[in-house]
Amino acid sequence: MERYIREISVEICPEPSAAHLPTPDLWDTVLAQLDDVAERLNLDPGIHILLRRPERELTVSVPVIMDDGQIQVFTGYRVQHSSARGPCKGGIRYHPDVNLREVRALAALMTWKCAVVGIPYGGAKGGVQCDPSQLSEEELCRLTRRFTAAILPILGPRRDIPAPDVNTNAQVMAWIADTVSMLEGKAVMEIVTGKPIPLGGSLGRKEATGRGVAIVTAELLKRKRRRLADTTVAVQGYGNVGSAAATILHEMGCKIVAVSDISGGLYNPAGLDIPDINRHVANHPQHLLEGYGAPGVDKITNEELLTSKVDVLIPAALEHQIRADNAADIQARMIIEGANGPTTREADEILQDRGIIVVPDILANAGGVVVSYFEWVQDLQCFFWDEEEVNRNLKKVMTRAFAEVWDFSQAQGVPLRLGAYMLAVSRVADAVRSRGIFP
Ligand code: GLU
Repeated sequence: MERYIREISVEICPEPSAAHLPTPDLWDTVLAQLDDVAERLNLDPGIHILLRRPERELTVSVPVIMDDGQIQVFTGYRVQHSSARGPCKGGIRYHPDVNLREVRALAALMTWKCAVVGIPYGGAKGGVQCDPSQLSEEELCRLTRRFTAAILPILGPRRDIPAPDVNTNAQVMAWIADTVSMLEGKAVMEIVTGKPIPLGGSLGRKEATGRGVAIVTAELLKRKRRRLADTTVAVQGYGNVGSAAATILHEMGCKIVAVSDISGGLYNPAGLDIPDINRHVANHPQHLLEGYGAPGVDKITNEELLTSKVDVLIPAALEHQIRADNAADIQARMIIEGANGPTTREADEILQDRGIIVVPDILANAGGVVVSYFEWVQDLQCFFWDEEEVNRNLKKVMTRAFAEVWDFSQAQGVPLRLGAYMLAVSRVADAVRSRGIFP
């Protein structure tokens, strides 16, 4: 073993740094939002300070033997923002820009998200700073298993339950479930959600975030007395969330006129053929829109997509895509935030001044964690539902949450984002208050 270690060389990935990332970053945005809400709610200052700080943060080194025999050391994080309302819950993302402040912000968003839809979880998030497109399947598997082992001391079906997020999927969740089960010497499939169906995954989980986005879009259109068939939609991001949202809204009768991903965008004012695009993406080696063509379809950039002439814009890619420099040019009258944190604070003010309705991330994209909750419930009971039951319950939870946020915001005379945050933060604060501060 010693000889083996001496023979392989070690490559340390550059120290993670957020220096190249924009300021204010997502954590600044999340804190500023919480401060606003605390003032509006006249929140107890002690609880306000408590919620400004995550309960627990773990940074781990993740050494991986690469296919060429060298060791590379990656950096991973798991942040538990709050367990006041139940076990912590949230995804794991693999991305070159992952850093502690981003993971911390995303963990807090999970706390608010679970509270706003009324499921019994707190919030967490994890991530590994890496570029998964540069890793082989085997490297990705070893990275996942080592990262899982490193964060396992703080995980557990009643402690903290991970799930997929950007660049992770059911296969990655299967490796996590297997690693924990091997280390603990028993099946612990309920340690993670978003698993493959044969391992205790839930039917409907894969499309759940996109389905939730479609459900809240339909609810908003109903409130605005608009017909789905007369509504044009642009979707930024054609990954798990964007593609499912586009597909389900297309099935509901909306006209999807623009979609984009990292390879660029497609635009057809007469409406895109979404099933045809999905066939192309399924056959593309990296599942991209790249290379798609059809009569009437023009190529556009991501920036052009955001400002295209549509009724509804769905940002379903990464954070801070709608900023002060493009918010004034957005033509959509309604924005449904499929991504986490896609709008900066300044952009949000501009959109508000322009009377654009924004359904905030913590409500709009909660469908994923809602069906994660259903998956966890099914795993714990070892009793599985059919897809119709999953989708019916998802619709029930999302429709109720939308109505609560809509009615509350109308009654308070505030935008939907502020209304959603006020409801969420007051529910978390209630939990903290009734549990009391240990000891
Ligand atoms: N990553 C998803 C989110 O941001 C799902 C989290 C989960 O299912 O736990 O909501």
